[in-house]
Amino acid sequence: MIHYTLSIENPAAQYIQISMQFETTNEVEIIQLPAWRPGRYELGNFAKNVKGFKVYNENDEELLFHKVTKDSWEVHVNNANIIRVLYAYYAADLNAGSTFLSEEQLYVNPVNCCTYVVGRENEGVIVDLKIPSTYVIASSLEMEQHALFAKDFDELSDSPFICSDTLQHNSYNVGEVLFHVWFQGEVKVDWEKLLPDFTAFSEKQIEKFGSFPVEEYHFLTQIVPFRAYHGVEHSRSTVLLLGPSYAVFKDAYKDLLGVSSHELYHTWNVKAIRPIEMFPYDFTKENYSELGFLCEGVTTYMGDLFLYKSGVFDLKEYINEMNAQLQKHFDNPARFNYSVAQSSFDTWLDGYVPGAPNRKVSIYTEGCLLSFVFDVFIIKNSDSKYSLDDVMKHLYEDFYQKNKGVSEQDYRNAIASFAGSSVTTLFENYVHNVMDYTQLLQNSFDTIGLKMDSKPNDKISQSKLGIKTLQQGSYFVVKSIYPNSPADISGLMLEDEIIAVQAMDVNGNLDAWLAYFNQDEIVVLIKRKGVFLNKTITLDSKWYYPEYFLKETKEKSEEQKKYFERWSK
Ligand SMILES: [Zn+2]
Repeated sequence: MIHYTLSIENPAAQYIQISMQFETTNEVEIIQLPAWRPGRYELGNFAKNVKGFKVYNENDEELLFHKVTKDSWEVHVNNANIIRVLYAYYAADLNAGSTFLSEEQLYVNPVNCCTYVVGRENEGVIVDLKIPSTYVIASSLEMEQHALFAKDFDELSDSPFICSDTLQHNSYNVGEVLFHVWFQGEVKVDWEKLLPDFTAFSEKQIEKFGSFPVEEYHFLTQIVPFRAYHGVEHSRSTVLLLGPSYAVFKDAYKDLLGVSSHELYHTWNVKAIRPIEMFPYDFTKENYSELGFLCEGVTTYMGDLFLYKSGVFDLKEYINEMNAQLQKHFDNPARFNYSVAQSSFDTWLDGYVPGAPNRKVSIYTEGCLLSFVFDVFIIKNSDSKYSLDDVMKHLYEDFYQKNKGVSEQDYRNAIASFAGSSVTTLFENYVHNVMDYTQLLQNSFDTIGLKMDSKPNDKISQSKLGIKTLQQGSYFVVKSIYPNSPADISGLMLEDEIIAVQAMDVNGNLDAWLAYFNQDEIVVLIKRKGVFLNKTITLDSKWYYPEYFLKETKEKSEEQKKYFERWSK
């Protein structure tokens, strides 16, 4: 048994005091802190938050240790029977995968801050929490008062918890499964709106998979006063980060639904259906996989589709989400440079930052579009008998229940067997290569009676200059430049600040000034690393960054109706 104690001495200093105690008969023990967390396939290097690492024996005498790697320590046991590792963990990041301490809450992702004893990952775990007696604990772990229990380190690392006296809570049932919904932070929860919607998409997902991997599930939601929107999946729970508070049940409600449905789908896809390369997780280093288009791609696609299938979204709301994915895809020239499989491998390098321009694509966006293509491919080729739901159900039953990881070949075989048709060419061209998706998408949308169309972008900066900007104060910072566009040819650089158009201060209205001058040659004044420069941009006849959108085909054929019906049910 490995016994942890987490205590808070001064919450405002944001250090959590952590002790890990265990019995030993060895001469040396290796203590390891994870270098990354499942759900984000890049190194997190959590050991940078560890301060004052010390080791003691049962008589409180210090034991010698030395660091072996950036996040592992070798302890010289020196005949001790009990070892107690002590350190303080700096908990100042508040996101869906972090650990955070303040005067309002203790929020812990154990994978960030709990070390493990190498070779003893399978032992049971107790976590004693020294927290105020008024605090309630939101967690999927078994608990007794302020003690939490996990069957092994894997379960502990996959079980975030929030301790606070301001948690808001409710629950709902789908069959035998009990779902808990928790909110921490400033928010007026509209339970009457939330509970029927959450019940609907949970029910539909469970129906399609046939069963749910766990008996109880927790949505742990952190609400912040600023714009935020992401989540992290776990086997029995998810943490969501959303904001601002005032928008969560208004304009940002679709985000709350979108991220919740997405994370719930992960309970099957990635927590249960796991890429073979990550089976089991190796917390000490990169776990490379090209299967991001399965884990995140299918989940991104299905998260929104299930909102539509369950009636939570109408077709227009669903199409808005799909349009956003299409836009991201077509706006990224890297779709001609790097495949989604290569981009998946490289999440460990720069998967969660913009990175070098036009270099890589997104496992979420390209993965979502390809999942749609595979879904329609299966529906059409099986004459509406099967869909991607059947592939996912099959992977769940065949791999999770037999405790195996999934390979790309397994995924390909499953699609091919339900479609009754080979997917080799699709995978080679679009997963592993950079073939243009346009025709493939048009055909797939057409199969179900949707039409993919485009129109010129209203913003002249985008459509005619070929740049995307971000307003900062009254000026505009160049954030993307389309290759070979007028802006590119004129020598504009990323991060240039546009100050004036034809000597007129843009003053927060770049596109209004561009529309006003409406001429083939435009002089812009820019500020580049503190130096002012004039650049002459010569426009051409092309339209850059067009807007992509879907619309319903007016007169659908009987076939299109049949496939649409199958796709949406
Ligand atoms: Zn995800």
